[in-house]
Amino acid sequence: MSGRLAVVGLGPGDPRYLTPEAEAALGDAEALYGYGPYLDRVPARSGQARYPSDNREEGARAAAALLHAAQGACVAVVSGGDPGVFAMAAAICEQIEQGPESWRELDVSFIPGITAMLAVAAKIGAPLGHDFCALSLSDNLKPWDLVERRLDAAASAGFVIALYNPVSRARPWQFGNAMERLRRHLPETTPAVFGRAVGRPDELVSVATLAEADATPADMATLVIVGTRETRVIVRPGRSPLVYTPRAAVEVSA
Ligand code: SAH
Repeated sequence: MSGRLAVVGLGPGDPRYLTPEAEAALGDAEALYGYGPYLDRVPARSGQARYPSDNREEGARAAAALLHAAQGACVAVVSGGDPGVFAMAAAICEQIEQGPESWRELDVSFIPGITAMLAVAAKIGAPLGHDFCALSLSDNLKPWDLVERRLDAAASAGFVIALYNPVSRARPWQFGNAMERLRRHLPETTPAVFGRAVGRPDELVSVATLAEADATPADMATLVIVGTRETRVIVRPGRSPLVYTPRAAVEVSA
């Protein structure tokens, strides 16, 4: 079977964050699949077909791309950030596992990208400087009580928490509920970094406390990093603050 499929991470938006490997894979592709706004970030090339789809159609998009590659084409599926972080790489693997045996023979590669939490962290210092975890607040693919249990476990174990998908129009109350949950384990003064559209022209990065977090604007393009008891803010005259989590951890009480 001569078809190839590359699952390509585009990074958070700034073209300088696109790796040379990702750029080469996009250049090689005869067909591009992805969520429309992500495809719009890829410069047009003559002879390259584009198949945009909605962001809720990941399974169908993955199947369509695999089918196309199985017919012998060189196909790229794009994701924002890293394709392995709440994105297309797992959707492709799911389809390969469930799909026809022939899909297992395809040449499939996964090309990493800079994920949002790393891009946001780099804008403000080192909030992920010690143990951290990443959680999606979307309850499209898991029940909300599981999100709550994971928030409890992460905060009580002393992890910095990167929150993907904090808010959407269909999920208006979840973010406030999550912040209330975290305040059960963490002081109200715990720093929370809000990074919106990082790497894009409308980028906005700010720092709030956990007490202020509910009232801080957040949307689907925002990633929130909630610190630990150790996370610190360095105020600097004439410059934006630095937020960092020291490398030496203190013992968390049970
Ligand atoms: N695969 C992507 C994540 C997809 S989930 C990655 O690795 O980054 C989508 C969520 O990612 C958004 O709701 C937001 O929380 C975060 N996100 C994606 N791009 C972002 C950006 N440029 N700035 C801030 N957050 C971003």
